[in-house]
Order: sequence, then structure tokens, then C-alpha cells
Amino acid sequence: MEIFMVAILLGLIPAAIARSKGRSFGLWWLYGFLIFIVALPHALLLRPNMQGLYEQAKSTGLRKCTSCAEFVRPDAVVCKHCGRDIPVSSLAAETSRQQETSDALSARSRAQNFENSTTLVQDRQKLAPTFGRR
Ligand SMILES: [Zn+2]
Repeated sequence: MEIFMVAILLGLIPAAIARSKGRSFGLWWLYGFLIFIVALPHALLLRPNMQGLYEQAKSTGLRKCTSCAEFVRPDAVVCKHCGRDIPVSSLAAETSRQQETSDALSARSRAQNFENSTTLVQDRQKLAPTFGRR
């Protein structure tokens, strides 16, 4: 029973290493749990899976530095990897562009609403004499 617990804990080591290289934590935990002695050197020798790392970074909301292509926090202005300034525009521009389009859309719909309501008022004014006669 104790050896079982030890295997569970040991499995976490290659799993953590593999995850830091963009691999599946669960699969590597199982691998480490079953054959730790193979899984550990294998995890250490693994080459980083860039696609996996990219997916991980994206899911945590990180963005890419425009100079060194490393991932940095979304509101960082200086890259922690290369020390260069990160143009706030790279992501902020994207969001503000989306903001702009949504603003434009809402302005247009507001204008549309206004037009609709003025037509309603005009209609009511046209109808008013009819009501008045009653
Ligand atoms: Zn950088």
C-alpha cells in the first residue's frame, strides 16, 4: 500500500516536468506512476512541445512578446525574458479595435432607434387629430 502511495507521488515529478514542456499532465502522471524509472529521464529529455506551450499560455491569457516571442503577462509593458519594451498596442490595439467596432455598432443601432422613435412620434402626430375628434 505504501509503495502505491509513493508511486502516485513519484508520478507527479515527470508529469510536472512534461507539463512545463507543453505535454499532458495526466498522461505523464500515469506514465510516471507505472514506470517512474523510465518516465523521469524521458521527461527530462523531452523537447518542448511549442504547440502545447502555446495552448497553455493562451488558456492562461498570456501574450507573446513581439521581440523574443516568449509569453508574458497580458498587462506587461517590459518583457521579462528579453527586457525590451512591449508595445501595449499589440494586444490592446486588438481589444480597442473590437471596442471601437462595438461602439460604432451601438451608435448605429442607437441612431436607428432614434429614427424609429421619431417616425413613431410623427405617426402619432398624424394620428392625433383622429384621436382628438373622438
Ligand atoms: Zn521578449
